[in-house]
Amino acid sequence: MSSRLFKRTKILATIGPATNSAEMIESIIMAGVNGCRLNCSHGSNEERDQQIKWIRAAAAKKGRSVAILQDLQGPKIRLGELKDNHLDLKAGDEMILESKDFEHDGGLTVPVQYNLAEKVAVGEPIFLFDGKIKSEVVEISSDTAIKVKVLNDGFVMSKKGLNLPETDFGGDILTPKDLADIEYGANCDYDYVSLSFVQSATDIVKLKQLLLSLGSTAKVIAKIETKKAIESEKNLEEIVKAADGIMVARGDMAVEAGAEVVPIVQRELIALCRKHAKLCIVATQMMASMVDELEPTRAEVSDVATAVVQGADAVMLSDETANGKYPLETVKEMKKVILFTQNHSRIAPIKRDIEKMGIYDAISAAAARLAEDIEADIMICQTATGATAMKMAGERPNLPIVTVTYNARVANQLALIYANSAFMRPYAKNSGYNLGLELKESGYLLTKEGEKDLTAVIVSGKDNKVGTDTIKIRKI
Ligand code: PGA
Ligand code: MN
Repeated sequence: MSSRLFKRTKILATIGPATNSAEMIESIIMAGVNGCRLNCSHGSNEERDQQIKWIRAAAAKKGRSVAILQDLQGPKIRLGELKDNHLDLKAGDEMILESKDFEHDGGLTVPVQYNLAEKVAVGEPIFLFDGKIKSEVVEISSDTAIKVKVLNDGFVMSKKGLNLPETDFGGDILTPKDLADIEYGANCDYDYVSLSFVQSATDIVKLKQLLLSLGSTAKVIAKIETKKAIESEKNLEEIVKAADGIMVARGDMAVEAGAEVVPIVQRELIALCRKHAKLCIVATQMMASMVDELEPTRAEVSDVATAVVQGADAVMLSDETANGKYPLETVKEMKKVILFTQNHSRIAPIKRDIEKMGIYDAISAAAARLAEDIEADIMICQTATGATAMKMAGERPNLPIVTVTYNARVANQLALIYANSAFMRPYAKNSGYNLGLELKESGYLLTKEGEKDLTAVIVSGKDNKVGTDTIKIRKI
């Protein structure tokens, strides 16, 4: 492994019609995809079961772990089917959003998939179709319907989403669909579960409890996209601490809070995640023009490079790989930008100001510092839970981290973590002291003919009460 060719910022790709085959999934994984997002907003359980099999088969063929993320829709409320898939709206129109089952006749009483009458209050804004239509609640018309006043001219189509930026769901954001998806997903091979439209840490705590009670070993990601989530730095930090990771969900965040707030929230969130050693994914429209074009725009290239320099763990592709014309080309372009950027720029430093450093924080920070000081080629660590690897990654060293683990779930989860790749092998007591040798003998660290030995900084521990307790330097 040449450390310069090893991509440290990971790529998470959304699977959809454009990538829905064993061949496409294999080719994007071979091209550099480290994780796949299966979106519960679209498709069926059967399709997702099939996709999971394809992803695992492709990962095994490549000999690298790949993370699979189940993305829960959350209270992403959608319109139902509209007559002729189209409804023109004029400013001043009064529209009824009705959650009872009925057939739309082309009029202003429109089907909606969620009972808004239970959650919204008069005066609250409701945005439709990615914010293209703005409206305001004027009346709770019945137990199942509300009336809104349309504020601008435009149109909506069937199944388009609603955003409710001021509505407080009061810690109850999981819809009946989410509960069914969680229950089904708990028995599937998911490494992460992400929740849309998180408002507070409570939403995450509830999801974690639910997953635990169902026997799931998946980690939980909070998608940050509501006005409520970002309203204070304190709330944001509480969500980061409660979750195992976050997604900067820029698509809906721009609708809910205004596009201009997104870059600042992105920077803030990446810093918070690095401070608390949590996974941070930057998502949506990173290479959006490649849905139709073979080349990204200058602005898109710059956007990916910025996420790399800020120290995101992963950058995400949505429509580009789910519905685009060029999913494979997009992955290749994204990888090129990541590699060039990481090889020509340091990751921006952050203030960690952790009040009290535990042993793991201190050892991880010291190891990363040491590795950079001696210009090591690689860091190696052993982990059962992934915590040591994540803490080392939190320091964002400019070199790869190979994590040795016996736990396949942990190996898959680490696939999305900055600079990490996992080497799987069975559990062995007191095995941590020859990690470098072990990796070399296994053929995992292939150095090219004529290349110098790798200088490795190795973090390990005997099975004692301290756990991780040793930093070593080795030529391998
Ligand atoms: P979505 O989430 O693609 O599931 O909507 C990401 C975002 O809103 O940016
Ligand atoms: Mn979203």
